[in-house]
Amino acid sequence: MSAPAQPVLHLTGQVICGPEEVHPEAWVVDGHLTFERPPASLEVERLEGYVLPGLVDAHCHVGLEAEGGVTPERAEEHAVTDREAGALLLRDAGSPVDTSWIHDREDLPRLVRAGRHIARPKRYIRNFAHEIEPDQLVEYVRAEARAGDGWVKLVGDWIDREVGDLRPLWPVEVLTEAIAAAHEEGARVTAHCFAEQSLLDFAAAGTDCIEHATGLTEETVRIFAEQDIAIVPTLVNIENFPAFAEAGQAKFPAYAAHMRDLYARRFETVGLAREAGVRIYAGTDAGGQLPHGLIAREVEAMLQVGMTPTEAIGAATWEAREWLGHEGLTEGASADVVVYTDDPRRDVRALAAPAHVVLRGVRHGG
Ligand SMILES: [Zn+2]
Repeated sequence: MSAPAQPVLHLTGQVICGPEEVHPEAWVVDGHLTFERPPASLEVERLEGYVLPGLVDAHCHVGLEAEGGVTPERAEEHAVTDREAGALLLRDAGSPVDTSWIHDREDLPRLVRAGRHIARPKRYIRNFAHEIEPDQLVEYVRAEARAGDGWVKLVGDWIDREVGDLRPLWPVEVLTEAIAAAHEEGARVTAHCFAEQSLLDFAAAGTDCIEHATGLTEETVRIFAEQDIAIVPTLVNIENFPAFAEAGQAKFPAYAAHMRDLYARRFETVGLAREAGVRIYAGTDAGGQLPHGLIAREVEAMLQVGMTPTEAIGAATWEAREWLGHEGLTEGASADVVVYTDDPRRDVRALAAPAHVVLRGVRHGG
């Protein structure tokens, strides 16, 4: 057996593999996690603390900022910021630039891309989306399904300035056809939805997930639970709703009132979904309005909807990894782990201060 290129890492303290499974120690050998003690002759570096699988930001945008797509250098900064925050698996919920090169960078987080947002003309933030008409939707969904990493992102509703309120973008018939096309291509579909009606439409059309989902009602919560439609609420970004309302107040008072109402009941709404058993994952929406690296804050916000600390941690680790088809802390898995000095299960705010970040077996920072 040849000596590994990297020293063996000995993880001690509590290796938290899941809500019910904690090990006193584990090792990182050649980039992989093992629970079997390696030969004593190998050089060992010890990392002590509370060990979690690399966190998941299930909704962020790499290579996207408020004005639209940015340079690869900026996209790299986004990814590095997430890594430093312990977010080692990112689900990119739409980016106008091709960031597939990140897959080849061992030092950057793992990335699951949804391709570019798909919206209608003037019905989303400028420069973000493919802006198309409904008769082009199926074709665009197919193309993004092929370009991405197993997800397609639609804009489900947005302000319609002629109506002065949030309105769905797509007729249900074409949506149904488009989602079926994505599924044929092996991709799952998610959509940006703030208001009530788009949730009914997307559920009827067979969506897999909804982002934000602030318009959930008792009826749609029941449907989402029945159909196993996941949600990624992005609570830290919903904090911007009062500012959106304020900006629209003069010209679009109905829209402003609607946004304030969705905002006022945000915790109650997501709490209803939780009680009904809807899957909920942690995402920050970094990249549009917010900076990267806020996953700890999103987990903390999830307590406001009634989640226990262990549930909220699961929404950003075990559960989210499984949902995205990535390993957690299992024998032979890639060593993508974060070590904390304090126990995040006692106080999730500990997640904001990783002591050590290990990605593909390599220590970064700490
Ligand atoms: Zn987003």
